[in-house]
Amino acid sequence: MSKPLMRIPYTEVFPPPHIIPSSAKTFDGAVDALKEFLTHPSPRGLPASTVLLSGAGLSVASGLADYRGVNGTYRVNKTYRPIWYHEFVTRHEHRKRYWARSFLGWTTLQKGHPNAGHLAIRDLGKLGLVSSVITQNVDSFHPRAHPDVPTLELHGYLRSTVCTSCRHEFPRDVFQDELARLNPEWAALLARAVASGALESENPDERRAKGIRTNPDGDVDVPNAPYTTFRYPPCPRCLAEPPVLADGTRGVVEVDAEGAWKPPSNAGILKPSVVMFGESIADHVKRSAEAAIDDAGKLLIAATSLATYSAWRIAKRAKDRGMPVAILNIGGVRGEDVFFAGLDPLQKGSQGVRAEMPTEKLLPAVVEELRRGSSNDSTIRDIATPLERDGSAMFKDLLS
Ligand SMILES: [Zn+2]
Repeated sequence: MSKPLMRIPYTEVFPPPHIIPSSAKTFDGAVDALKEFLTHPSPRGLPASTVLLSGAGLSVASGLADYRGVNGTYRVNKTYRPIWYHEFVTRHEHRKRYWARSFLGWTTLQKGHPNAGHLAIRDLGKLGLVSSVITQNVDSFHPRAHPDVPTLELHGYLRSTVCTSCRHEFPRDVFQDELARLNPEWAALLARAVASGALESENPDERRAKGIRTNPDGDVDVPNAPYTTFRYPPCPRCLAEPPVLADGTRGVVEVDAEGAWKPPSNAGILKPSVVMFGESIADHVKRSAEAAIDDAGKLLIAATSLATYSAWRIAKRAKDRGMPVAILNIGGVRGEDVFFAGLDPLQKGSQGVRAEMPTEKLLPAVVEELRRGSSNDSTIRDIATPLERDGSAMFKDLLS
């Protein structure tokens, strides 16, 4: 049986949702419904706790673009085209382009912080209501915000690179320093772009006005330093000892005078530790995601339209196990009616919730409400203080 591959998700907008229960059309009503959902015993002896499945919308309040929102990448940047796994691993030219763009995008990601939504999940964990998180996000905001609530990063994480030969991982920020050393013209451009604020927008027109010129393919134009000249380092382990390849021969890892990977090398290629389009999710990650669902009694889907099949499949597994599902998302969700079929029309949230509110506003309000209802419980303290977003926007199209 072939493994499910990451595919380009649907880019159309899904139909608007039916709000469930109807009282959840107001903010206070949605708070009450979610409180009911989180605290009501799970049906048929299922575990009491809730597993949370999150997506790109949750990081918008941290300054990152989502895909389909009002300022989402698919709407703002019509030239956006993510790289495919087979392109990355087989083509030196594609890797140059990828790493050049990633080099520019990394700084902005590093400036981002978890927001009030992530911190509310931390607090729901402390309250014993959320047992684990499955996220499609690769920004590491979940593990940073709530190290005590386990996070499964379904599509990997940008904080590391991974060697496609020896599978060793390395910190992305060290790699960034190496890219700067090997590509001084790009490092100078990055410094100028950070100073001008050109990287704080995904809109090509805004970037151009602030000094970042792009060509019709969306590529950044750097005078005297086109993509074709961009250099990146190899895996240091494979450079020291070239690995044995699948066909039994010894791999070749060669570098230029300054240490950049060069042809005819055929090994030691570093890739971001994310699942690229056309790449399969590792079996152990898939199994862990299934286990996270099976260990919980309810599923809260937050800030995702479930457009990627891997996320949809996990949500469907929860439904098939008889777990109540709550969806908190602005805009429609792929096939969402399936999750709410057969609900008692009089239920107040214990069987299912569909609300259309920003997660970073609603979840902190739910935490506050739970805290108020349990003010004598000494275990409940340190409730989230919403972080102000720092105004940075994420150059997401350069990291995908
Ligand atoms: Zn290696």
